[in-house]
Amino acid sequence: MAESSIQELRAQVDVINLQILELLNKRAVLASDIGKIQQQAGTTFYDPQRESQMLTALEQNNEGPFSNETVKALFKEIFRASLALEEKESKAKILVQRKSADERTIVTLPDGVTKIGDGGFAIVSGPCAVESYEEMDETAAVLAKRGVKVLRGMVFKPRTSPYDYQGMGEPGLKIARQVANKYGMFITSEIMDASQISMMSDYVDIFWVGARNMQNSFLLKAMGQVRQPVFLKRGLSATLEEFLYAAEYIVSSGNPNVILIERGIRTFEKATRNTLDIGGVAVMKLESHLPIIVDISHSAGRRDIAVPLARVAKASGADGLMVEVHPNPPVAMSDAKQQLYFHQFNQVMDAVEQLNVTSEPVAAK
Ligand code: PEP
Ligand code: MN
Repeated sequence: MAESSIQELRAQVDVINLQILELLNKRAVLASDIGKIQQQAGTTFYDPQRESQMLTALEQNNEGPFSNETVKALFKEIFRASLALEEKESKAKILVQRKSADERTIVTLPDGVTKIGDGGFAIVSGPCAVESYEEMDETAAVLAKRGVKVLRGMVFKPRTSPYDYQGMGEPGLKIARQVANKYGMFITSEIMDASQISMMSDYVDIFWVGARNMQNSFLLKAMGQVRQPVFLKRGLSATLEEFLYAAEYIVSSGNPNVILIERGIRTFEKATRNTLDIGGVAVMKLESHLPIIVDISHSAGRRDIAVPLARVAKASGADGLMVEVHPNPPVAMSDAKQQLYFHQFNQVMDAVEQLNVTSEPVAAK
């Protein structure tokens, strides 16, 4: 009977399936052991020469009925799965990788009370650059009224053109510090080079590594040695994995207090300065225990969409947002198109306060 012989053959296939499964997993254990040795030695997991040797050996021993092409395609899939396993295992070992659903890095600011990453929604704000005492004082007064604790005190500006405004340097930090003290705020300021650490440490509560320096590994390692927390911005065209490894540089060099900032990435879209990668924020919440905040200014490059972006930032589960505010944006020395008027900043705060979301990593089951 055809029916019973099919059943008989299928029973044999079932047995072979289980044997293949067992062999595949045995192979995966060996690949994982090799991966561990490679990681210790600092060599890459993917070895094209070795892969080509294995494919040649399979071809030479293939007696069919599968063609060499089919056999190679099947084995390439097995090789790919082994490589993915090795990479996943090595990533699970990095310090910034989330190890459990409730793990979170909480960054405590110098008053011992203000925290970023504790489930609240932190607002980081201030002008794009320090321009004068009056500019900082007027802005900080508005921000402090809405409870903002972290003030931008940017004095080294990474401009596209060397002829554009480059920032006030140390005199600007003096202003920022004075104003922050007046309103009980903390100063964050962008550092360009490790040689500035000692001078800036006199003024700055939180260091800030800008997008253009995200892969400056020497600066990142130096940030591992400072006592202050560090804001780390995603590079202009950096993948999330590169972003994570940049944070790993700082944390593995001794500073656990890193706060990530999503600031939009370069895409073909021109309506916004960059494309805000809100999916990336959700992924980073799942992948890492570090807090992440959303820069709704540099990602947009325009002020008219600040309210919806602020809502999206909070709804995404981020730990806060960063927004640029200036007393008279059109005459600002930098980023005149995106800095908010005071009344717009208040609209952003109203929108954020109306949304009741806590920052949690939310994985669909
Ligand atoms: C900034 O936030 O001050 C800044 C310069 O942005 P980015 O590094 O993201 O371009
Ligand atoms: Mn700016």
